[in-house]
Amino acid sequence: MTNKHSSSAPTSMTVAKARPRAGEPRRILVTGGAGFVGSHLVDALIARGDHVMVMDNFFTGAHRNLEHLSQNDGLVRSGRFEIIRHDVVQPFLVEVDEVYHLACPASPIHYKFNPVKTIKTNVIGTLNALGLAKRCKAKFLLTSTSEVYGDPLEHPQKESYWGNVNPIGERACYDEGKRCAETLAFDYHREHGLDIRVARIFNTYGPRMAMDDGRVVSNFVAQALRGDKLTVYGDGSQTRSFQYVSDLVAGLIALMDNEDGFIGPVNLGNPGEFTMNELAEKVREIVNPAAEIEYCENTADDPSRRKPDISVAREKLRWEPKVTLDEGLRLMVDDFRARVEACAKRAKT
Ligand code: NAD
Ligand code: UDP
Ligand code: UDP
Repeated sequence: MTNKHSSSAPTSMTVAKARPRAGEPRRILVTGGAGFVGSHLVDALIARGDHVMVMDNFFTGAHRNLEHLSQNDGLVRSGRFEIIRHDVVQPFLVEVDEVYHLACPASPIHYKFNPVKTIKTNVIGTLNALGLAKRCKAKFLLTSTSEVYGDPLEHPQKESYWGNVNPIGERACYDEGKRCAETLAFDYHREHGLDIRVARIFNTYGPRMAMDDGRVVSNFVAQALRGDKLTVYGDGSQTRSFQYVSDLVAGLIALMDNEDGFIGPVNLGNPGEFTMNELAEKVREIVNPAAEIEYCENTADDPSRRKPDISVAREKLRWEPKVTLDEGLRLMVDDFRARVEACAKRAKT
């Protein structure tokens, strides 16, 4: 069911690019930088010497995710790291060379909590971030999602697949919101010559995921640590491909840094595909073999399978994921254990 189209959009005009002068650090805006992916991205950018400005309304993000940076006097005083509390739906003015636009709740329970706000964040928020990038002549990267493929009729999913999304369903505020955000990015490229990059991110997991966000990996790991039953939705035969967060961060930076002129959406995900039953078994094996499994009713419009074709990322970015699911789950357990224990302690006092 591939829809044939050119994934690289024609450029009608090209605006001059603002780039840091030789020897000067890059000034980077990360919207949604206090969230799960954003905070790991900020760590990587700071580590390589960039100046990073985080803009976040803290809807699903947390100061805790950036505490190690905000409490580093040297970083803050030198202006290498700043946090601005702001809602991306409102216009904002800062001067930067690059914009990583992540601001948007990513887990189904959070994006369904206030669906109209999710649409505003994706549409008006992305418009503002694009307007800012245009004014600054900055490079712009949108974190889109595998959800643009909906319940896919093509498997695995290539960037050329146009998707199968229910436009009036409960997930549409997110799926259609991101599809519109992609359209806006490509229109800013076609109309204004903006230097854009669009990452279609597949399910990502790792330390700092919000424990209450209802995503399957965070749910299973927290449940196994607490000794609760692992809640498998439906019959557990639906599949997903899980990518460890450090692989995603490497892919996002490679996409932003790529200068070969390629403009087109790029899948960033781990092609390893697992049913939710298999994931539950892995979590039991790694975290708590005594944990039981409980089958619960599934949510509406749940995609039955998801697996990225990452040929474009391999070819254009020379990127591919390195961390296996077993390794990644082991890497996130300590962070989750510390938070589960802190919660239990607070509940007792
Ligand atoms: P997250 O919820 O942890 O982070 C999102 C951040 O955006 C939070 O800090 C939140 O407070 C902030 N935010 C939300 N609405 C905002 C607004 N109106 N104004 C300012 N800030 C706002 O989610 P995440 O997993 O880190 O996802 C980051 C990005 O990656 C999102 O755009 C998401 O759609 C995309 N993505 C993530 C995944 C994944 O599996 N984690 C998969 C596909 C796409
Ligand atoms: N915008 C912003 N910060 C900027 C530049 C623009 O928030 O630094 C917003 C602006 O308020 C507008 C949107 O981005 O709502 C799109 O801006 P653009 O200049 O592309 O469009 P226009 O303002 O001409 O409609
Ligand atoms: N899921 C599950 N148990 C849970 C949470 C989710 O079996 O406790 C399932 C869910 O029905 C979906 C898959 O896991 O089929 C991935 O869900 P998630 O919310 O993590 O990501 P998304 O649906 O956005 O890909």
